[in-house]
This record gives sequence, C-alpha cells and structure tokens, in this order.
Amino acid sequence: MSTTTPARLTVLAGPTAVGKGTVSADVRERYPQVWLSVSATTRSPRPGEVDGVHYRFVSHDEFDRLVEAGEMLEWAVVHGKNRYGTPRGPVEEKLEAGVPVLLEIDLQGARQVREAVQSMDGLDACFVFLAPPSFAELERRLVGRGTEGPEERARRLRTAHVELAAESEFDVTIVNDEVHRATDELMSVMLCAPGPPGSA
Ligand code: 5GP
Repeated sequence: MSTTTPARLTVLAGPTAVGKGTVSADVRERYPQVWLSVSATTRSPRPGEVDGVHYRFVSHDEFDRLVEAGEMLEWAVVHGKNRYGTPRGPVEEKLEAGVPVLLEIDLQGARQVREAVQSMDGLDACFVFLAPPSFAELERRLVGRGTEGPEERARRLRTAHVELAAESEFDVTIVNDEVHRATDELMSVMLCAPGPPGSA
C-alpha cells in the first residue's frame, strides 16, 4: 500500500487566446516539479511541436479507440474541428505518486473533469479560470498572434464572449496580465494544497 499523499489536480481553462498555452509553456520551463498532462489530439503537429511532449498526435481511429476503451478522463471537439482529450492513466499515476498535475484544457473539458472528480474519492482538485485583463486585450491578442483569418477570428471572439461568462463556475480566477506573474500565481494555487484532513 502506498504511503504517499496524493497530489492536487489543477485544471486551467479560459477563453480562446487568453494565453493558456503560453502560461503552460512557462510552467513547463520554470516548474519541473509539476507534471503537465499530454493531451491526445487529432490535429496535425505545428512546426516545433514534439509528439509526446506537446501533444500525443493520433489518428481519428486511435482517438475513437481511446474513447471507447474508457481511457479518456475527458474529451471535446474544440473550435468545431479537431478532437482533444486527456488520457486518464498517466494523470492518475502521477497524482498517486504525489506529483501535482496540471491540465490545460477547454471549458467543455473542464466541466467533464468536474463531473469525473466527484466520483474519484478524496481527490483534491482545483479549477482555475485564466481571464484576460479586458475583452479589448483579448481581441488584440487574437489579432496579434495572426494564426486565424478574419472570419475565424470573428467566430472565436463570439465564442470568447460566451466563455467569459463561465468564470463563476471556477474556484479561482487568475488574470493573465503578465505571463510570469500569472504562472507564479497559478503555482501558488497548485503547490499550496491543503494537507490531509485533520492535519491543520
Ligand atoms: P491548440 O490546437 O491551439 O493547441 O489548442 C486548442 C484548444 O484545445 C485550446 O483551447 C486548449 O486548451 C484545448 N485543449 C488542449 N488539450 C485539450 C484536452 O485534452 N482536452 C480539451 N477538452 N481541450 C484541450
């Protein structure tokens, strides 16, 4: 029987273009004591992305297999195109070994994890909403990164309006006004988990 106290599971979500990817990259670089879940996705790798590090790039058939085998903690179609999901096994293994785990996922996924943890007895989970300093700033970031055309950008901004309203479903809000600052605040949430019941 393991004597390690299970670590905290932290879910980071927020509207499109808020900078979730940048904050997770900062976590990966500066906080090696945290394990970032590697999502499976049906989208193709972008330049510089490494299979098994940034994502596990899988075929549609393989994704179907993972879902059918019950190996996904959550999964969703994101931006109406590709499927993304969190493989359950590695998350459970790390938590049991006492390693804090971070999931950077979309809002649909965050809601599914919220449901799933209710049946995972005693799991310490925290849901963090990454918010932009303002809607105008979100728009500026989406235009600035230049990865979407005008039509797709307009569609994502409409989605972002809806997504911003989800903030109240989360335990903590962190404003991404400056990446290092937001990451450090996220780490204080992740790494200051309460001790076991009765230890206070
Ligand atoms: P991108 O394709 O730009 O890397 O990611 C697009 C979106 O997919 C981001 O909003 C990201 O949070 C979300 N995403 C990445 N991995 C997962 C996952 O495992 N599950 C869910 N539900 N969303 C994910």
